[in-house]
Amino acid sequence: MIIYTGGTIGMIEDPGTKTLRPFDFNHLIDNVPKIKMLDYDIRHIQFNPPIDSSDMNPAHWQQIAEAIGKNYDAVDGFVVLHGTDTMSYTASALSFMLENLRKPVIITGSQLPIGEVRTDGEENLITALQIAAATDPVNGEPMVQEVAILFENYLWRGNRSTKMSADNFNAFKSNNYPSLAKIGLSIQFNPDALWRVHDRLPLRVHTGLNTDVIIIYVSPCMTRTALMAQINTPGIKGIVLKTYGAGNAPSAAWFNDAIRDAIGRGIVIINVTQCVNGGVRQKRYYTGDHLARVGVISGHDITTEAALTKMMFLFGSGLTTAQVVRRLQHPVCGEMSL
Ligand code: ASP
Repeated sequence: MIIYTGGTIGMIEDPGTKTLRPFDFNHLIDNVPKIKMLDYDIRHIQFNPPIDSSDMNPAHWQQIAEAIGKNYDAVDGFVVLHGTDTMSYTASALSFMLENLRKPVIITGSQLPIGEVRTDGEENLITALQIAAATDPVNGEPMVQEVAILFENYLWRGNRSTKMSADNFNAFKSNNYPSLAKIGLSIQFNPDALWRVHDRLPLRVHTGLNTDVIIIYVSPCMTRTALMAQINTPGIKGIVLKTYGAGNAPSAAWFNDAIRDAIGRGIVIINVTQCVNGGVRQKRYYTGDHLARVGVISGHDITTEAALTKMMFLFGSGLTTAQVVRRLQHPVCGEMSL
């Protein structure tokens, strides 16, 4: 089943403004006549209207998750066509929302619209469909049993991925986890990297997401006023604190006091590095250790997208602060390495 949400892949140029705007599914599919050669029984659902992924919000994630839940038993796999801008957020959110997933949910899109001569959209769509249909030759089970992003030459774990380039056809990467497959002359899966759930439980779709979570980005020019304005955002429950290097932030008293007071008021704070590669080790430097001592949770090598959506999912599941703190410290579906 193809779930078409929008994105560049299905866009056409607006004759008036000359900007790209999402267009309908038939336009997209008409531009990929080769799809018939796959001889798959393809069903589709489309967002009405299809959107630029910069307009995505948690209600759209719920729509996608519900569509997957509703059609889960009827199809072998899902291909979600999506804009690249927020693709990693959607992939991360879906990985938490689809508990016990054992079928492929392959998210793809393109850098150039499908109607353009040099488009990467055709290849990405065809490859995503092939991956969604791929089965293990030994046991006949789906090769991919998780939410993944297929882009150009690689298949990445969704909740490990980040958009790395606004220009390159290889736009995504998971900096702290190997690719699930390499796409060349053939599709070479990496069995050691693929996610497997051991308990064969029925799919559970979680649609509760709490949006009272923010990202605070530390920088050398951060002032107490700016930090307090963010921490005092009305109603917030969680903060993804984007720190330097191995999880370091200013050791000044005003910074530490603000963080300690926020945690004292029940706000959960997870430490995620600004670096694209590697992770948080709060005990390495004093500038990280002071955060650990007041109760900031180490995000290890989690991505910002996964940290944010995991918090939204945990708070949205109605867990207590203590339960959220506990569950943030352990991987739920392969989103971080300890
Ligand atoms: N702005 C577009 C989107 O995210 C970019 C893309 O699809 O590549 O929908």
